[in-house]
Amino acid sequence: MSTIHQHILNVDVAIVGGGIAGLWLLARLRERGYGALLIESEQLGAGQTICSQGIVHGGAKYSLHGQVSRSAEAVAGMPELWRRCLRGEDAIDLRGARLLAEHQYLWATRAPTSRLAAFFASKLMRGRVDKVAAHESADARPAALRHPAFQGTVYRLDEPVLEVASVLTAFSERYRDAIAHSQGPVTPKADGAITLHCSGCAQQVIHPAVTVFTAGAGNIGLPWAAQQLRPLHMVLARGIDLPGLLYAHCLGASDLPRLTVTSHYDAGGRLVWYLGGGLAEEGVKRDRHEQIRAARRELSLLLPWVDWNPVEFAAFTIQRAEARQPDGGRPVGPSVFRDGRVIAAWPTKLALAPLLAEQIEEVLRSLDIRPQPADLRALANWPRPEIAMYPWNREELEWN
Ligand SMILES: Cc1cc2nc3c(=O)[nH]c(=O)nc-3n(C[C@H](O)[C@H](O)[C@H](O)COP(=O)(O)OP(=O)(O)OC[C@H]3O[C@@H](n4cnc5c(N)ncnc54)[C@H](O)[C@@H]3O)c2cc1C
Repeated sequence: MSTIHQHILNVDVAIVGGGIAGLWLLARLRERGYGALLIESEQLGAGQTICSQGIVHGGAKYSLHGQVSRSAEAVAGMPELWRRCLRGEDAIDLRGARLLAEHQYLWATRAPTSRLAAFFASKLMRGRVDKVAAHESADARPAALRHPAFQGTVYRLDEPVLEVASVLTAFSERYRDAIAHSQGPVTPKADGAITLHCSGCAQQVIHPAVTVFTAGAGNIGLPWAAQQLRPLHMVLARGIDLPGLLYAHCLGASDLPRLTVTSHYDAGGRLVWYLGGGLAEEGVKRDRHEQIRAARRELSLLLPWVDWNPVEFAAFTIQRAEARQPDGGRPVGPSVFRDGRVIAAWPTKLALAPLLAEQIEEVLRSLDIRPQPADLRALANWPRPEIAMYPWNREELEWN
């Protein structure tokens, strides 16, 4: 008869899911002295986080109606907070993580509407957006928009763009002792215990005072925390003919960006443009080939001086996971639900992970969970999750 060896570990908080929400929460709780650990069943960032465009929104995208929406207020402080963390000036120390760009640009294809002008003049945006004036040297504009035929208006937004994998790595290295890989997804259990399995290890049972599910689309089996999935059909463009690095939202006739572009280098050193915004929202109605055709059409319209023929394209769909809304629209901020000693949470945006962690800490306080450092030595030899792969490095992508 074989004996199953079991170790039991008592902690204040077990966090299930190592995307940006879980990792930020882990960092915050550890810095406050809580005995917290995180369990990831795939790789860190494997859901939405590694596929995000990494833009730390400062409110611009959400307040283009000329009014300061609740959502815009919630995000207004995020760029500065993230920058402080990246400089090592906050308790959440993200030194080692990098920005891809200091600013995201906003480019309007026609003269700004009165609503857009009102928005830029609003109190919320004052000091956080600069018009790149026509008389400034063309160098002030991103390379792709420097062509003499360019006729739009360009604004520089206070929206840094993160190198997302470097953020995941910074968290993973700093809190390595508290991050465990589990074979198979963790599911909620009535007694709250979590059993970790790994081949060749003794079974590890965790008894958390509170469990927090930050598992993105994996926040399932929790009927008191309903979620909605909103798909995007993202497009990638690569090749030496791309006109340089571009981090920009393009505004057309409507108030929402028709295209959002971020730039990255793939594992082979090739430049890749990652295309989202309206193209990806509307693209869910199209199959892959139609979506690539739509992307080529859109880019040819917006940047007609570029030869798009030699550029290769790929497309893939991904779901955004959020708390369910009555109208199915995007929640205004992070969402936190609790049933007894189980919490389920979605940040809604990567940029809002700090706000989400703050809200969860408040819930812990309301439950009278006091920080008590945990002895995590039992996990010392436990397997750690890897960092997820960027979509543009995935072999299964078909490029045309
Ligand atoms: C294409 C795209 C672009 C985006 N761009 C931006 C942007 O530019 N700026 C911005 O602020 N936001 C952006 N977002 C939104 C942002 O990516 C998400 O809000 C954020 O990443 C969600 O983080 P999360 O940690 O909640 O979930 P996820 O990143 O999905 O992480 C969940 C983790 O939980 C793990 N997991 C799941 N189930 C289990 C289980 N049962 N047991 C153990 N582990 C489990 C998964 O493997 C995964 O690692 C974008 C989203 C998408 C899809």
